[in-house]
Amino acid sequence: MTAITRFAPSPTGYLHLGHAASALFSFKQSEPHGRFLLRIEDIDQTRFRPEFLDAIYEDLAWLGLEWEHPVRVQSEHFDDYQAVLDHLTDMDLLYPCFCTRKDIQAEIAKIGNAPHGPDGALYPGTCRHCSRQERKDRIAAGESYALRLDMAAAIKRAGHELVWFDRAAGRQIATPEIFGDVVLARKDTPTSYHLSVTFDDHLQGISLVTRGEDLFFASHLHRLLQEVLGYDVPEYHHHGLLTGPDGKRFAKRNKSMTLRSMRERGLDPKDVIALTDTFQSKK
Ligand code: GLU
Repeated sequence: MTAITRFAPSPTGYLHLGHAASALFSFKQSEPHGRFLLRIEDIDQTRFRPEFLDAIYEDLAWLGLEWEHPVRVQSEHFDDYQAVLDHLTDMDLLYPCFCTRKDIQAEIAKIGNAPHGPDGALYPGTCRHCSRQERKDRIAAGESYALRLDMAAAIKRAGHELVWFDRAAGRQIATPEIFGDVVLARKDTPTSYHLSVTFDDHLQGISLVTRGEDLFFASHLHRLLQEVLGYDVPEYHHHGLLTGPDGKRFAKRNKSMTLRSMRERGLDPKDVIALTDTFQSKK
């Protein structure tokens, strides 16, 4: 089997053992005749630190991984994401949302039992009801806004049941409505994880998206975006997450489990790969 896979870390902390397992998993899925890409997901420039980016390259090379060049660095491609947003706007699938976090919380409190999705309470739809004129006026007045997907309109546009396949969990029928009117461009960042990742996987011809099962539900939304944007649909493999002896998954705050600190403690890359193997066999 040949697959084009990618590992797509965010340079917001040092890579830990869980990242190593995920990167190695992705690499293995591209063998023997496929391609393995590395993508830097640094759209959140407030959390980005250059030393974390340098460390990604160094730590992955230390593990023995090789990837294609040039590496796609998302922050260099905000124009691409803007073009996708413009396209969705032309299809009437996006609307500006002026709500602050507080506005949304107040509205949700009013509703009482607000529906929840993978990212928390669903947006109550306040700004979906603004008139075209009100939108224009508020934008002209300099109010900041996010861009939200009009979920009902997008599902209607797709027009039929959407299916995707996960190598671990099997055939899935997409249920993107669990996200409600999700933000596709934030007030402080002119794109979002969901938009950038869907576009980049398409642009880079990724045929097998591998990532942790914590992002399983995101694929329901990505499938819808692929459909309305006319993209090919990759296969997916959401893998289990490596956990420590306490049963908790590794996080960027677990300093002792960073590849950096393991290397400083004198561990050999082979030892680190062996540590991820117990996890690999759980796939
Ligand atoms: N950048 C994401 C993360 O570090 C991974 C995105 C993906 O693999 O789709 O969690």
